[in-house]
Amino acid sequence: MTDTTLLILGASGDLTRRLLLPGIGSLLEREPHRPVRIVGADRAELSTQEFADRMGTALAEGGCVADVVDRVRAQTSYYPIDVTDPEALGAVIAELSGSERLVAYFALPPSVTERACRAMLNLDLPECLHLAMEKPFGHDQASARELNKIVARLVPDERVHRVDHFLGKSSVVDIMALRFANRMLQAVWSAEHIESIEIAYDEQLALENRAGYYDHAGALVDMIQSHLLQVMAVVTMEPPAEISDREVRDAKSAVLRATRLWGDDPAAASHRGRYTAGTISGRSVPDYLDEDGVDANRDTETMAQVTVEVANQRWAGVPITLRSGKALGETRKHVVITFADVRHLPAGFAGADPKDRLIISLSPDVMELHLTTNTAADPLALEQSVLRTDLRHAELEAYGEVLAAILDGEVMLSVRGDAAEECWRITDEVLAAWRSKAVPMTDYPAGSPVPTDWHPALG
Ligand code: NDP
Repeated sequence: MTDTTLLILGASGDLTRRLLLPGIGSLLEREPHRPVRIVGADRAELSTQEFADRMGTALAEGGCVADVVDRVRAQTSYYPIDVTDPEALGAVIAELSGSERLVAYFALPPSVTERACRAMLNLDLPECLHLAMEKPFGHDQASARELNKIVARLVPDERVHRVDHFLGKSSVVDIMALRFANRMLQAVWSAEHIESIEIAYDEQLALENRAGYYDHAGALVDMIQSHLLQVMAVVTMEPPAEISDREVRDAKSAVLRATRLWGDDPAAASHRGRYTAGTISGRSVPDYLDEDGVDANRDTETMAQVTVEVANQRWAGVPITLRSGKALGETRKHVVITFADVRHLPAGFAGADPKDRLIISLSPDVMELHLTTNTAADPLALEQSVLRTDLRHAELEAYGEVLAAILDGEVMLSVRGDAAEECWRITDEVLAAWRSKAVPMTDYPAGSPVPTDWHPALG
């Protein structure tokens, strides 16, 4: 295993404390001998000892055992610097450039990430340097393109990890195994047999004190731009010749390039909503606009839905609905493939023929196949039977899986530069329609279901 130094830029921030360090903790619980050194840089005036203490607590939270925590603590260093200062950043990188692999992880606000990348432009960067970039990558297609250009001048693309922590490697590979290792599913995986697809990430969680980030992003950018379009790409891409970085990312990019808004009409193809005061499982939730740190002038949505079409031979005509909402009555994180009706249902069967569906739940990873069968009581009456299996219980949290891939220098799970730009192309059109008020904001009480007129026939 390659000796890797992880340099966290923004080491005193929320992402580092809540997700990155516990993620590494869970990785080190599984692989205690992994050779990784963790180093922090941030403008917070901390000593190495203080950073080591914070890091130790967060690693232990992730499951890392005490003697491994002690080892990692003993090897750490902390640099209280402004990461946008080329001289200061250059000195830190030079000091760490003797590692076999050096990963600079940008756990910084997006505008600071861009400035830190610019600060690297005139530095003599070592061959071992990899860059891990957090979401959102840019704030629209033009800025993502601009950031890609800067990053391309720093290191080759196979050393850039645009992080998508949403689907860990196991979930992505589970979907690919279902799709590409089953003759039966392969045969029906097209517009010929599939009527619609829904990819939803509906959660009961409300804002949870994250206004500083969320009120600027909103549901569309937070979930659809960065994550759900990536899931869609895995669900709809052409079968790759092998499961490798290049083949999988080529196939995902091709399908994203073919994706357009349903009817080429951003207003008709999208919905936006915002929760008002309500109750979720007995817990009172305030109106979003009354949450701490929320600015009503930003007009941020807490639920977004976009319907797209992959305009190619395999998928033209199939509506693909992507939705994510906060503070809903029910948590639903799934991909639902709804099959078309049989061409002819023989006369004699009683009742309607229910839709057959394949439901892939994301976290926990479970698959259900809903098939039409006849009932035990009346052989001519139809009902649905459900075949269900656990796909896998992920050993690591999604961040643990993402970090394992980054530390190993693998990029299959990360978003390639062109794919990041394509995702913004799709959501930019929706955001423009929303800004022009072409789509009304739907109020929904916290704890309520998705409005029935939002989702087409999917339960
Ligand atoms: P925070 O603001 O909590 O952390 C950023 C850290 O960087 C802070 O400690 C900040 O210091 C420091 N910093 C800012 N500017 C500089 C600078 N010029 N030089 C050195 N240090 C600096 O942000 P988050 O951790 O929440 O987010 C980081 C990234 O991760 C963002 O891109 C976000 O979109 C992404 N992300 C965050 C998630 C989360 O749950 N937090 C989830 C998914 C992605 P100071 O406090 O003084 O400003």
